Amino acid sequence: MHIKSASFVMSNTDVGKCPKDRLPEYAFIGRSNVGKSSLINMLTERKSLAKTSGRPGKTQLINHFLINKNWFLVDLPGYGYARVSKTAKKTFQKFITNYFSKREQLVSAFVLIDVRHEPQKIDQEFMEWLGEHQIPFSIIFTKGDKLKPAALERNVKDYLKKMEEGVWEQAPNHFVTSSSSGLGREDVLEYIDAINKEIGGQAP
Ligand code: GDP
Repeated sequence: MHIKSASFVMSNTDVGKCPKDRLPEYAFIGRSNVGKSSLINMLTERKSLAKTSGRPGKTQLINHFLINKNWFLVDLPGYGYARVSKTAKKTFQKFITNYFSKREQLVSAFVLIDVRHEPQKIDQEFMEWLGEHQIPFSIIFTKGDKLKPAALERNVKDYLKKMEEGVWEQAPNHFVTSSSSGLGREDVLEYIDAINKEIGGQAP
């Protein structure tokens, strides 16, 4: 997919105030510092569409970006940031669960995982919650350039194997990316493009 246009539309905390357009929507979410902003900038080939924040956990907003005038890329707040208080965590959970359970336009989520890490409880619980609520998602492994090719392949395999040894009958669809090298860019964009074509550009 060629990115002809990418623009910021709005930020808010209330799913009821998200854009009314019936455009297909894809949400990006993951732990703070996982590389979400860098990935969004890499995918859209825009240097600072998503703000790479110096202080993770600060931007607790649902951010809508309109891509090629025919789909929304949604940047959700990073979770699991240690400095966020318990109350803030609860509020966060509420508006994220609201977003995922109420946003009809959502086609699929992308859960970002730092490819260097072993499965972490917070990510596993989040993906299980998505599964229980039948919200389609793929994993995007980030920072692929930080490992040598053999280690990269091994980590991805081990991560997915551990999921299958856990509660998952089948590991989720996944992508391996690097915002530094552009690895995986075409795969993610082609995946979105194929779904958009399949559903005829109309949100569910
Ligand atoms: P966010 O908090 O999830 O939005 O993460 P950021 O995009 O701000 O990235 C967090 C840190 O990881 C920054 O220092 C980035 O430069 C670095 N980073 C993000 N993606 C990559 C990547 O693909 N490769 C490398 N080497 N560093 C990355």
